Amino acid sequence: MIDRVELATRIEVAFPVGASAPVESMLLHGDECHDCSLLAAELKQWRHLPVTRERLVILARIQPHLTPKGWGWFVSKFLRDVVADDNLSNRIEIESLIYFLSPSAANAEEVRVVLGELTERQLEVLLDFQRWIATNEFWRDYLGHDIAAAVEFINKLLAERY
Ligand SMILES: [Zn+2]
Repeated sequence: MIDRVELATRIEVAFPVGASAPVESMLLHGDECHDCSLLAAELKQWRHLPVTRERLVILARIQPHLTPKGWGWFVSKFLRDVVADDNLSNRIEIESLIYFLSPSAANAEEVRVVLGELTERQLEVLLDFQRWIATNEFWRDYLGHDIAAAVEFINKLLAERY
């Protein structure tokens, strides 16, 4: 079973810190979308600043509006923050991520596209993250079924690559 230190190392290797992309390349929709225009205004203010918990919550909520580039940026910040946190209960953005990665049949294609630019190694780290979060009692009790569905979904994406 993967432990916190090992997971942190894998995150650092798979998701190297890069410069933040232009805001327009991170969002799927233009001004006609309420969530995208709100987030564009937010990102223009703070995308070069450290991503606080509050900001992670905002990003997690609007995951379906992020481009593959935007989502990759979000998840690299998310994983680093969560793996360093000793108190994982009550973090709404973990719930959002688990739900996002365990889509219904109707939403699966949309999520597959968002994850389309991740490398195999990055997908494997997402898998490691699900397995690690399943060792947390709170999350296993609360969303064990959805975590298992996320593992299945990511495994399916990996199987398509090989
Ligand atoms: Zn949108």
